[in-house]
Amino acid sequence: MNIERIGVVGAGLMGHGIAQVAAVAGLEVVLVDIADEALQRGMDSVARSLAKLVQKERLSDEARTTALSRIRATTEYAALADAQLVIEAATENLAVKTKILQQLDALLPAEAIIATNTSSLSVTELAAATSRPENFVGMHFFNPVPVMALVEIISGLSTSEATHAAAKAFAETIGKTAISVKNAPGFAVNRILCPMINEAIFALAEGIASAEDIDAGMKLGCNHPIGPLALADLVGLDTLLSIMETFSQEFGDPKYRPAPLLRELVAAGHYGRKSGRGFYQY
Ligand code: NAD
Repeated sequence: MNIERIGVVGAGLMGHGIAQVAAVAGLEVVLVDIADEALQRGMDSVARSLAKLVQKERLSDEARTTALSRIRATTEYAALADAQLVIEAATENLAVKTKILQQLDALLPAEAIIATNTSSLSVTELAAATSRPENFVGMHFFNPVPVMALVEIISGLSTSEATHAAAKAFAETIGKTAISVKNAPGFAVNRILCPMINEAIFALAEGIASAEDIDAGMKLGCNHPIGPLALADLVGLDTLLSIMETFSQEFGDPKYRPAPLLRELVAAGHYGRKSGRGFYQY
C-alpha cells in the first residue's frame, strides 16, 4: 500500500511531532484532538519547530509553508474517514485509547491500518478493541519526534506481516529507521534501558561508586551520550518506577524489582529534573 493520507489522534507532545515529520515528508495529515486548545498548542509547536529548521538552513522557507498547509487540525473525527493509516497518540490510558480505537474502527475503511504510539500498554490488547487486529500495529516513536531517528514497529498477536511491513515502510518514508519488535512489556528499547538504569541505582545505593563516577563510567567506558543516573533524572523517577513495577508484575521475574533507593526518592517527591531534585540538584 502506498500511504499518502494519514491521520494522527492526539495533538500533544508526540502527536504534533508525528504530524510534523509526516507533513515535511510530503504526506497529507489530519490531526485530531478533543480539545481546541491542544490543537492550537500543537500547531504552534509545529510552526516554531519548522521555523527553527529554516533558521538552521535544514528546510527551505517554501517547504516550511507547504508542510504547514498539509496539516489539517480539527476536533472532528469524521475528517479521518479517508485516511489510509491513523496513528493514535492520545493520553496513555487504556479506557481513553479503547474508546478512540473503537471510534476509528467504525469510521475507517476495512483496509486502513490503525497504529498506536503507546509506551506501556499491550498492542495485542489494544488491537482486540477493534474488529481488525490483523490491520493493527504498534508504532512507538521517541521524544522529540523530529529529532529521534527510531521507531519500534510492534506486532501484536494478530498483526499481519503485510501490516507490519506497511508500517515499517511508512516509518522509512518519513525519514525514520524502524526496528521490528514483538509485543512485550517495554518492547525492545525500554526493556533494556530501564533495567540498566535500575542497576545503576543499585550500584549507587551499595556505595560501589558516586553518582558522578557511575555516570562518567558509562559515558566514557560505553560511549553513552548521557550517564544512567542523569538520564533517570531526565525521564522522571516516578515514570521510571512505574515502568519497573510494570515489568516486575508482567514478567513475574525478581530481576526487574525496582531499586529501593528509587522508591525512596519517589516517596520523598524527588522526581528528577521536573521537581528540581533527583540524583542531582537542578
Ligand atoms: P500528551 O499528554 O502530551 O498528549 C495527549 C493528547 O491526547 C492531549 O492533547 C489530549 O487532549 C489528547 N486526547 C485525549 N483524549 C483524546 C481523545 N479522546 N481524542 C483525541 N485526543 C485526545 O501525551 P504524549 O506525551 O504526547 O503521549 C501520547 C502517547 O504517546 C502516549 O500513549 C504515550 O505513552 C506515548 N509516548 C510518549 C512518549 C513521551 O516521551 N512523552 C514517548 C513515546 C510514546
